Order: sequence, then C-alpha cells, then structure tokens
Amino acid sequence: MDAQPCVQLWCLLTAGALAAVSGAPVQDSPATGKFWHISDLHLDYTYHMTEDPTKVCFSSKGHPVLNPGEFGDYMCDSPYELIQSALNFMKQAGHLTDFIIWTGDSPPHVPVKKLSTNIVIQTLSNMTDTIRKYFPDLQVYPALGNHDYWPQDQFPVSTNEIYQAAADLWQPWLKPEALKTLREGGFYSQLVQPGLRLLSLNTNLYYSPNKETVNMMDPAGQLQWLLETLESSRQSNEKVYVIAHVPIGYLPYAFNTTALRQVHNERLVQIFRKYSDVIVGQFYGHTHRDSIMVLLDDQGTPVSSLFVTPAVTPIKNAREPYSNNPGVRLYKYDPQSFAMLDVVQYFLNLTEANEEQKANWKLEYTMTEVFDIKDVEPQSLLKLAKSFATPHSKAFEKYFNHFMVSYNDTIVCQGLCKVLQVCAVQFLDSATYRQCVEGWLSAEGLDDNLP
Ligand SMILES: [Zn+2]
Ligand SMILES: [Zn+2]
Repeated sequence: MDAQPCVQLWCLLTAGALAAVSGAPVQDSPATGKFWHISDLHLDYTYHMTEDPTKVCFSSKGHPVLNPGEFGDYMCDSPYELIQSALNFMKQAGHLTDFIIWTGDSPPHVPVKKLSTNIVIQTLSNMTDTIRKYFPDLQVYPALGNHDYWPQDQFPVSTNEIYQAAADLWQPWLKPEALKTLREGGFYSQLVQPGLRLLSLNTNLYYSPNKETVNMMDPAGQLQWLLETLESSRQSNEKVYVIAHVPIGYLPYAFNTTALRQVHNERLVQIFRKYSDVIVGQFYGHTHRDSIMVLLDDQGTPVSSLFVTPAVTPIKNAREPYSNNPGVRLYKYDPQSFAMLDVVQYFLNLTEANEEQKANWKLEYTMTEVFDIKDVEPQSLLKLAKSFATPHSKAFEKYFNHFMVSYNDTIVCQGLCKVLQVCAVQFLDSATYRQCVEGWLSAEGLDDNLP
C-alpha cells in the first residue's frame, strides 16, 4: 500500500526515520509520481468455451483452440473476463497513481467484414466504460490504435464518425482544446499539471497499411501541430510525455523494418531529437511485446527514453513460435523534473490462471532492480543496451524473456534474432540502424543471412 501523500518536510523526515529504525525496506518516497500504462486490450466478444475448437473465438481465424480457459487463450484475443481481471488487479494493487495512459487497439483481430464502423465504436465505448467503471476518479489519457478504425488502419486526415465518437466518449477526461484536435485529426495535447504536458499522437496516419495517407508528407497537419506544440512547451518551460500507438524506430523482430513508414519515422526521429530537452518520456504499444528504445542524437549521446508496453491480449499468429502473457505496467517518475525513474511490469501467467481458474496477476520485474540501473533515463538505458550487446549477456536473456512477458523461458534469441533486438534498442534512424546490423553480421560471419 502507498502512504498518503506527504509534502511537508517533517512528514518526509519522519517517514525516512521510521524506515531506518525498523530496518524495513525503504518504501518509495511518497513524493514519487506514478502512472499506469495499458495497451492493446483487443476485446474478442465472441470468445466462449465450446466443444468445437475452431469456434472458440473469431480471432483464431479458424485455427483450433484446443484447451481454452476462462481467461483466454494464446490463439485468441482477450475475453472480457481477462480485461476485467487486469483492471481489477490495477485497482487492488494499492498504488496511488496520478493517471493512466491507454495506447489503443480495442477491437479484435478478425477479418474486416466481421466488423463495421458501428462495432468499432461500440467496442471503444465498451472499453472506455469498463476503464471508467474501475477508475471513476482517475484521469485517463487515451491514444487511438490502428485497430480503432474501420476498415482497420485506414485513418483519414479529417474528421469522421470515429474521431467524433472518440471525442464524445473521452469528453470526461479531455479539455475542449484537446477534444477539438481529436475530432479533426485523432490527436491532442493536454496539460497534466503545471510544468507537464501530454501529447497523444495519431501515428496510425504514418502506418504503412494506411492507404488514405499514401504519399502525404504531413497527413492531417499533425507534424506541423507537433512542432508548434513542442516549441510552445519549450517556451513555457513545460516537459512533455509523448504517447502513441504505433512506435517510432525499428521492429525488434523483423529485419530492417520500421513500424511506421520510413519517411515519417525519419521525420519523427529528427523532431524528437530537436526537442529532446522538452520530451522526458515516450510511451507506445502496438507490437504487443515489451521493449525499450533509447534515442541517440547525431553525436551518439542518449537523449530520450522510449517504452513499448506489452499487450493485455495474449493472441499470437498461428505461425509465430511464441506469444506474450497479458501485461499491465506502472511507471515511476520524479514529480519535480518528470524524469523517468522506473518501470514496474505486472503480468498474468495465462496457462496457470486457466488451470487454477483464478487470475493471479503478479510482479514480473522492476527494471532498475533486475538490471541494476539507477533509473530509466536515457543514460541508464544506453548503459543497459550496451550490456545486451556483449556475448552471452545475462541481461539480454532477461530482456528477451521480458519481451515475451515470461511466456516461455526456454526460447532463446541468438544470432540474427539477437542482432535485430540489440540494434532496434539503440538505433532508430535508417543510417545508424543499417550500420549496426551490418557491423554485427559481418563480425559474426552472418552476412549471408541478410534477407
Ligand atoms: Zn494491437
Ligand atoms: Zn496495433
């Protein structure tokens, strides 16, 4: 349980003295800020237990689900039961949090014709109401995911039924100025507290499968708005957290593939470098896996920490060798400088939960403890990234196990798998990424593996 906020000096001194006398582990300073991050809920409203293994969930796309359980299956998107158990765990965990960030993707992975604009809006509405039911008094900052549109990925550059619906649903959380840009382009900014602003970007506009924005340099004028908003934050001495669904950078499991269109990835990397004095954290979803990135400037100095949170849905593609367990996470930050202090990752062992018919969400890891780093600021993440690159790095083995949210610790990532992971952590633009991959492959004599 967290202590009540303690702002006066005597209170801080007493708390410290008591911890020292009792020898108890020193709790977080009550002055530590905390917020939750949830992503990729992907509700499959068709999930049900049935005799026919091909009919358990639409999201298995006809692949047999042999042993489905109450909390879901790795072949399916989330049953409502799983989403409720995640939110219930967060509510019961006893953390005194300042807000929740929710980085999108509510509808299930099903063929386009099984959904419609109406179903997508209903799903967004259902997930919004569910989150609000568990956290009626907590501020939530949502971002739209590529599945939060119909047809999926096809986000338009001007107002439409879905941006309008999102603005109506999120009206209790967002100010009129934020709702205005949300209605027009699916993005917004809002002051979290004096000195801290949150920017929710609609990176789906730059996602390669989006046919609506092909060949557009600045769809919906979001880049211009981003530059103006960051400049105004700099002038006002504000710090900024950026949230979005599709991350910048390279996919850690694919060769030479950016999550966004390469041209927009390069542009965003430039902008985030230019404003790295303003941006103190970046938070994404979409890959469904747990990863970090550290943005380096042109001199190779680490300037920005990026966090990709794992999904609540456990779904995997039938061809994939591994999936992720459901995860939710908590960040700790310095409430004065808003610097990022720690990542606390929680997860549900889905197999165990189904066997025990009980959702026992637990701590997976605390980043500073498991990797022995002092915080999760860019300098610390670079130090960690460098330790991954050493041969037989234990830190990298742990990182890869976290990547799958402890799905299966017998799966190892070596050779090209490791090269792609390690290069994706540190190199977010095409020139440095290619240099990293090629350097590694020639050093390991793996050049022939180049696709
Ligand atoms: Zn997703
Ligand atoms: Zn997505």
